[in-house]
Amino acid sequence: MNRNDFLKIITGATAAIPFLSFGRKNNSSIIEPVSIATWRFGVKTTARAMDLIKEGASALDATEAGVKICEADPNERSVGLGGRPDRDGKVTLDACCMDHLGNIGSVAAVEDIVHVSSLARAVMERTPHVMLVGDGARQFAIEMGFDITNLMVPDSENEWNKWLEKSEYNPHVNVENHDTIGQISLDRKGHLAGFCTTSGMGFKMRGRVGDSPIIGAGLYVDGDIGAATATGHGEEVIRVVGSYRVVAEMARGLSPQIACEEAVRKIHQFFIRRNASMKDTQIGFIAINKKGDVGGFSMRPGFQYAVNKLGKEPQLIDANSLLS
Ligand code: ASP
Repeated sequence: MNRNDFLKIITGATAAIPFLSFGRKNNSSIIEPVSIATWRFGVKTTARAMDLIKEGASALDATEAGVKICEADPNERSVGLGGRPDRDGKVTLDACCMDHLGNIGSVAAVEDIVHVSSLARAVMERTPHVMLVGDGARQFAIEMGFDITNLMVPDSENEWNKWLEKSEYNPHVNVENHDTIGQISLDRKGHLAGFCTTSGMGFKMRGRVGDSPIIGAGLYVDGDIGAATATGHGEEVIRVVGSYRVVAEMARGLSPQIACEEAVRKIHQFFIRRNASMKDTQIGFIAINKKGDVGGFSMRPGFQYAVNKLGKEPQLIDANSLLS
């Protein structure tokens, strides 16, 4: 039987029960290997990661292998091949990665490369830098032997043509136009790592970069504390340095669940302070601590994340949200 056959879909309310550890310090040394990822596609990507972790793979290798499934799938319309184009009709990808030692790599606004997660990792491991963008990142990919691929599959083309009919610029991230994959894992050695990869906001301005490739915003890992990653309206996540904030809250002793809630609350507070319209803006965070406890929370209902723990049934969790 396929492990997805065991998939259990549970609501945030049920899921919250094990997370009732508000303010409790993490004193236990028991490590529970786990991989978690944003959205429904995280079910297959975390399954892949856990299969590898079970065999002894590092969190970095396992998580990369997981998100690459999503990047290669033209039917996942917000990541990698077949991602959503910008308003000029180009698919441009953003990605980053971070390991438990604080190694980081990132690429932004990259065209023609499917596996930008691996490209971010190549920046991390093969250059003295942490971020490459646009043509420079593409050139580096070619030098590293990455294939050049037209990312604009027929579905992306059709969607763009439809968008052109009105050409309405609507820089919001709602249920129709989002879906970054952020995936974070804890391996058998207790090492954490994560990747975040996306085509970003649908029909964005050319050159627009969201939170996903920004270390601290779309992803953050502290090998001694925990890891967090984000999805949703990137500008808002950058404003509060979202993923770093979640990890910083865990460093204060908060559970991953409460830490995610605090970051979403801070974004909400900033909206109110700026008297800005939230319209239908969606934001979601997920987090793991060093022990393998997990959490996730969003601004609005509709956010789901996958949790795959070693030896346990995989779960797709409907996150609780701040607003109804
Ligand atoms: N965070 C991504 C961005 O703003 C979009 C998303 O997660 O859907 O580019």
